[in-house]
Amino acid sequence: MDSMERLREIVETSDRIVAFTGAGLSAESGIPTYRGAGGLWTKYDPNIYANIDHFLRDPTYYWNFFQEVRYPIISQAQPNPAHDALVELERRKLLKTVITQNIDGLHQMAGSQNVIELHGNTRRIGCMECGKEYSMDEVYGKLQDQLPPRCDCSGGLKPRVVFFGESLPFEALEGANDAVKDCDACLVVGSSLVVYPAAMLPVLASEKGARLAIINIDPTPLDHMAEVVINDSAGDVLHTVVKGGFE
Ligand SMILES: [Zn+2]
Repeated sequence: MDSMERLREIVETSDRIVAFTGAGLSAESGIPTYRGAGGLWTKYDPNIYANIDHFLRDPTYYWNFFQEVRYPIISQAQPNPAHDALVELERRKLLKTVITQNIDGLHQMAGSQNVIELHGNTRRIGCMECGKEYSMDEVYGKLQDQLPPRCDCSGGLKPRVVFFGESLPFEALEGANDAVKDCDACLVVGSSLVVYPAAMLPVLASEKGARLAIINIDPTPLDHMAEVVINDSAGDVLHTVVKGGFE
């Protein structure tokens, strides 16, 4: 059995699949990763715009990045065939939960119902004083004459994402742990599995006896634990396996 057939066999014989997704999946929707990005993206340093201490001291840098880079990219990004394949698996009651490290909300846009966002969602922007939530469009509008942008109550705004220096939201982490403990297969999709503690989740799944498959463009530190490793485009692989597997 080649690795694509093996992956298809895992998918078709499991009914409590958890997908664990990362930056490689978003990259296939045109959202660059921190590493290896070029052009305008490199004008802003993630160690500054995504650092909580820096953000609280001077949010201007983040909002300039938002206006010039994040907003144009995220507001144009569309789900890709890998997102769609995971929706299909959920619809067929084979997949229970998507756990993602991504902050772009593309799983929900594709139609996934049960999504745990470990690092939050950059489309949601909250007031640090009163908690009121704004969309990216609303904040982009405020930025036309206000830097940094402010809530109607004049409080400061912050995207609902986990910055460097912040801990992962307890509820999300707890939910992810529960999902992983209960899964019968864990599909890693587009994660290089180097960001901890999130990358511990596939280890936990494997220890609990779940079958582990890794689809990522590059090798990962957990490849030795996996039953199947496919170093290729997540969109191509999942589209072939899911669409081809149910004919
Ligand atoms: Zn407010």
